[in-house]
Amino acid sequence: MVFKKITAADIAFFQSIEGMKAVLTDNESLESCASDETEDLHYMPEVVVQAQTVAAISRLMAYCNEQLIPVTPRGAGTGLSGGALPVYGGVVLDMKAFDKIIHLDKRNLQVTTEPGVITQVLQDYVKEAGLFYPPDPASKGSCFIGGNVAENSGGPRAVKYGVVKDYVLNLEVVLPDGEVVWTGANVLKNATGYNLTQLMVGSEGTLGIITKIVLRLIPAVRHDVLMLVPFRQAVQACEAVNAIFMAGYTPSAMEFMERDALEWSMRYTQATGISLPDDIEAHLLIEVDGNDKDALYNDMEAIAAVVQHYDIGDVLFADTHEQKQMLWTLRRKVGEAVKSNSIYKEEDTVVPRAELPELLRIIKQLGREYGFQSVCYGHAGDGNLHVNIVKGSMSDEDWNTKLTEGIRKLFAEVVRLGGTLSGEHGIGLVQKDYMDIAFSNRQLQIMRSIKQVFDPIGILNPGKVFAD
Ligand SMILES: Cc1cc2nc3c(=O)[nH]c(=O)nc-3n(C[C@H](O)[C@H](O)[C@H](O)COP(=O)(O)OP(=O)(O)OC[C@H]3O[C@@H](n4cnc5c(N)ncnc54)[C@H](O)[C@@H]3O)c2cc1C
Repeated sequence: MVFKKITAADIAFFQSIEGMKAVLTDNESLESCASDETEDLHYMPEVVVQAQTVAAISRLMAYCNEQLIPVTPRGAGTGLSGGALPVYGGVVLDMKAFDKIIHLDKRNLQVTTEPGVITQVLQDYVKEAGLFYPPDPASKGSCFIGGNVAENSGGPRAVKYGVVKDYVLNLEVVLPDGEVVWTGANVLKNATGYNLTQLMVGSEGTLGIITKIVLRLIPAVRHDVLMLVPFRQAVQACEAVNAIFMAGYTPSAMEFMERDALEWSMRYTQATGISLPDDIEAHLLIEVDGNDKDALYNDMEAIAAVVQHYDIGDVLFADTHEQKQMLWTLRRKVGEAVKSNSIYKEEDTVVPRAELPELLRIIKQLGREYGFQSVCYGHAGDGNLHVNIVKGSMSDEDWNTKLTEGIRKLFAEVVRLGGTLSGEHGIGLVQKDYMDIAFSNRQLQIMRSIKQVFDPIGILNPGKVFAD
């Protein structure tokens, strides 16, 4: 696809659109949208626009569609698969001005929001009303709810409460030709035609611009109990995950952290108050929540009894709010800590939960074969392991060539175990060349046909999801 380069006339048109807050071409603004949190990628847009109204986005899209100008929607830019990067230049549509929570419908336990609201802000807002929006990506203090919908994000609580798709009821979307549609209805059940709402969830900004989101909420949960369990063998930590479920318990979070992940995060956050004995290989951070405190303590004791069957160190029960905060901060900062340590590539593997120990063995075996070090952590309760491949002392040549082969092998093993390429970070730019491992030609053709129906000219977030 050959796109048109943006001209002064195009800029003048964007500026003339009513409801357009900003049309930015200065270097600083372009740079701010040239990267996200994915590794060290860099793609400059030609212009960054911030619209304030749906009508403005509609006019922008209709024009770009006609003029063959690529448009890349951008939330907060915390994505980990390069989805918001303008790989063909063109327009970055920055959604930060869409930052209003429109309506809290307490009677129906629903909230309607614009996509540029920070996830944590939305969670705090509904909490004030005694309600709970559970999906909590570790980036919740900075990512936008619209980005979460576009990526179908997860987080530690997904193990009990599900991911974003389980809360999205209805969406307002501007299609690539500028038409505005709602995808469904504000109802808890909907068996009416194809499910366009769920098609948009996780579509990574390739099918339409999400401009309003209706989310289902649940009553707030009053109590939680948290413990950190150290394991002398990392594989045993993975085995314990499934054993806890098999024993009949569903924690509200079950996070795995390899030793390096926790150690680097402790250093990064300058945390004190946790001892990390030399013989510990990994930890599980386990939380249970509910409204009956006694029942929670009983559950936690029962879970502690399950993990006692493994070779573990001293369990840390977080007694105070501060201790809980400290443990969660350590977990949430692992990604940043790894990034600050070395050049790395992150894979977002997910397998059926019982296959987690085998996945970890395979990762370490491939590391030995291909000469890479890996630091693994993630939402173990979902079978979702983030594999951070650290460049360390690997040569540039091996890093740029041999590693791709190693990653392909890893994904092939993941698929053999019944898993897939990404649990929550999406395919975006960096995983698109591996899609053939997870899908047959026919499956990929169906997906491409869907893209074609929504975006026949191909101006919306080109270069993502599908191999070139
Ligand atoms: C430290 C850290 C921790 C993280 N932890 C988690 C985690 O626990 N779980 C998890 O799932 N992810 C996690 N992430 C990844 C990231 O935060 C999520 O993918 C998040 O949903 C991205 O939101 P964003 O607003 O930053 O979107 P962006 O990165 O800006 O965009 C992501 C994608 O969404 C599209 N998009 C954005 N807004 C719209 C819109 N309005 N309409 C259409 N398309 C749109 C973009 O085109 C792009 O393809 C983490 C990231 C970091 C840096």
